[in-house]
Amino acid sequence: MSAPRVRIAPSPTGDPHVGTAYVALFNRTWATREGGSFLLRIDDTDRSRYQASSEEQIFRALRWLGLDWDEGPDIGGPHAPYRQSERQEMYAEKIRELLGTGAAYRCFCTQERLSALREEQNARKERLGYDGHCRSIPIADGERRAAAGETHVVRLRVPEGGSTTFRDELRGPIEVRNEEIDDQVLMKSDGFPTYHLANVVDDIAFGVTEVVRAEEWLISTPKHVLLYAAFGATLPRFFHVPLLRNQDKSKISKRKNPVSLDWYREQGYLPEALLNFLALMGWASPSGEEVFDREHFAEHFRLEDISLGAPIFDLEKLDWLNGQHLRRLDAAEITARLEAEGMMPEGADAEGLRVILPVVLERLHRLPDVAEKTRWFFGEADPYEAADLTPPKGDLRDVPATLGRAEECLRGVDPWELPAIEAALEAARADLGVKKPQLFMPLRIALTGRKDSPGIFEVIEVLGRERSLERIAAAARCAGEAVDA
Ligand code: GLU
Repeated sequence: MSAPRVRIAPSPTGDPHVGTAYVALFNRTWATREGGSFLLRIDDTDRSRYQASSEEQIFRALRWLGLDWDEGPDIGGPHAPYRQSERQEMYAEKIRELLGTGAAYRCFCTQERLSALREEQNARKERLGYDGHCRSIPIADGERRAAAGETHVVRLRVPEGGSTTFRDELRGPIEVRNEEIDDQVLMKSDGFPTYHLANVVDDIAFGVTEVVRAEEWLISTPKHVLLYAAFGATLPRFFHVPLLRNQDKSKISKRKNPVSLDWYREQGYLPEALLNFLALMGWASPSGEEVFDREHFAEHFRLEDISLGAPIFDLEKLDWLNGQHLRRLDAAEITARLEAEGMMPEGADAEGLRVILPVVLERLHRLPDVAEKTRWFFGEADPYEAADLTPPKGDLRDVPATLGRAEECLRGVDPWELPAIEAALEAARADLGVKKPQLFMPLRIALTGRKDSPGIFEVIEVLGRERSLERIAAAARCAGEAVDA
C-alpha cells in the first residue's frame, strides 16, 4: 500500500477552532506514524463567512501545537495551490465534465419556486429537498440558457433508484437509499463551488487516501461517494470522528465552552497538555495511562481505535493534565515557555525561577499561576491586615511575642538551609509551648501574605535570611500596633 495522504480542511471563518486541532492531531499523528503526508487545505469558498485574519490564526495555532503540515498554502507542495479560492478553474472544469456526462445538470429554479416548494413539503410533512424540476431540461437547452446569462446553479443528479453504499471505518458499512439523497447544489449561482464539489475534486487531486474528519460530515458522505463514482475515482477510506461535546452533550459551542485555540494559549495551557487532553477525547492508551506525550500517542495510536463515544469537554480535567505536564518540565524549560508566552512574573529572572519553581511546582495548573504563586518571592508579601495574623483558636495579642521568638531563633541559623531552619523553628515552638498552626500560620502570612503558601521551611529558605527576618519583624510590629490601638 502506498504511503497515506491525509488532510484537514479548515474554513477561515473565525478564531481557530479546538475541533480543528482535534482532527489535525489524529491526521498528523497517523501520517507521521505511517511515513505519509499531512496536508493543510484552506476551504475558503464561502465568501460570506470569510475572515481575512483567520487563515494566519489557524497556521499560528496549529504550529503552536506542533501540528505542522507537509503541504499547504504557505509552504506549497506538489499539488499547489492549497487554497480553494485559487482553484476555481479546476472546479469549473470538473463541473463541465459532470455536465457533459450527465452526472450533473443545470437548475434554473428561482428562489421563489424553491421557497414555495419547501413550504409545501413542510405542510405535507414531506422530506425537504429539491424535486428534480430541472432534471429533464435537455443539455443543449441548459447550455443555451446559461450562455444567455440566465441565473442558475448546477446540481448533482442523484440516481433515481437503488442506494449508495460505502464504509465508514469506525462504523462499518453504510447504505443510504438514493431517494433520500438530495440533488445537491455543486456550483452556486455566483460560480463558486459548494463545499461538496470542491472537497471531492481536491481530495481526488491531492491523492487523499484517508478522510479523517468530524462526524457532522457523515451525512454528506453519500453525495461525495456519488461524486467519486461520477469522476471514476477510487474512494478514500472514511473515518468520521465523534464531535466534541458540551457537558449537556450538545455539539461543543462558544456559548458553553471556550472553542478558540487562541484562548487556550492565552490561558497558559501547554501545547502538550492540550494535545494529551484532545487525544483522550477519542482514544485510550492500551496501557491505561492518562498522562502521556506525543511519542507515546504516536506509538500506540491507530485510526481504527478512535472511539465512538461522545467525548465531553471538561476543563477541570485539562487543568489537571496541564499541571501534570508542567511538572514534567524543568525550571529552564518552564522559564523558556513563560518568556515565549510573555507570561514572566514581574521582577522575575531565570535564576530566581530556578530557585522558586521547585517550591511552587505542585501548586501550578497553568503558566500564569507562576506569577500568581510567586508574587511573594519576586516582590513583597501580598498585602494583609493585622487580623490575618491571628492564629486559629489564638489571640492576636500573642502574635508579637510568637513572631519575635521565631525571629530570634532564626537569627542564629547558619548555614541558611532547610534542616537548620526547621530546627530553629522547632526550638521556637518548644519555647513558646504552642502547636504548629499557632506559629506557622502567622509566619506564613508574615512572609507571603497568603494562607496557601508552600511549606513554611521552604519559604524561609528561598526568601533568604534578610528578607525573612525583615518580614517577620514587620508583621510583629503590625500586630503590636493593632493590639495597642
Ligand atoms: N471545510 C470543512 C470544515 O470546515 C472540511 C470538512 C472535511 O474535512 O471534509 O470542516
